[in-house]
Amino acid sequence: MKERTVICSVCFNIGLAELCSICADPKRDPSIICVVEDPRDVIAVEKSSSFRGRYHVLGGALSPLEGIGAEQLHVRELLGRVERDHIAEVIVCTNPNLEGDATAMYLSRALKHTGVRVTRIASGLPVGADLEYADEQTLGRALDGRRDVDA
Ligand SMILES: [Zn+2]
Repeated sequence: MKERTVICSVCFNIGLAELCSICADPKRDPSIICVVEDPRDVIAVEKSSSFRGRYHVLGGALSPLEGIGAEQLHVRELLGRVERDHIAEVIVCTNPNLEGDATAMYLSRALKHTGVRVTRIASGLPVGADLEYADEQTLGRALDGRRDVDA
């Protein structure tokens, strides 16, 4: 029998309860949020073992061409978490392409008033590649080499 999966009410990751296993884990650093496009990206970052904070799944990336704006993504919920939960850093871990970069820039601007540090994973991932296909070492290096996004 397949277990019933639910969407986490905090980070929109896929889990087995209203709070996913990562949000429910008290050992994870609650002050750092890694923003990804897709629940599969959570799995990819977890495999790299380079991140001990929590996640926020946007549900995609900004794409004016495809008519995907901030209101189609879980951006409002991210702003709410940063404003409410004393977040120190938001790592934008979107795919290394135009949409992923545009999303990082947008989030940096949208979060500016909160004073939170917004960083973007380093390049080094193949351009246009999907994060979920990056190998663990490459993704780990990209996370370690993250830089501040200038809004
Ligand atoms: Zn969660």
